[in-house]
Amino acid sequence: MRAEAVQRLAGLGSARADVVDAARDANVDDEHDPEGATIAFERAQLEALAADARGQLAEIDAALARLADGTYGRCAVGGEPIAPGRLAARPTATTCMEHARRHVRFRP
Ligand SMILES: [Zn+2]
Repeated sequence: MRAEAVQRLAGLGSARADVVDAARDANVDDEHDPEGATIAFERAQLEALAADARGQLAEIDAALARLADGTYGRCAVGGEPIAPGRLAARPTATTCMEHARRHVRFRP
């Protein structure tokens, strides 16, 4: 999972570099130019995807740290075991289903 996330991040980085290069080649400097707006939009989308990938990478690293210290698979709220099905679906889960639901419900 970590290797995949790193690879995805690298791919997004080079896609972003391509957009920047394309913008330079097209000599688009004016943000009010329709072409410039398209490039800015593409760049913003790539940055959002990269932010997602970085967040996922951080979650994976945190899960690996929990594996190393022996707390992996335990709910961060109550300390009870997280159901294997939940971990299979979401290996970076930090809480059991019950506490994940409560957390969502109590979020302001
Ligand atoms: Zn729990």
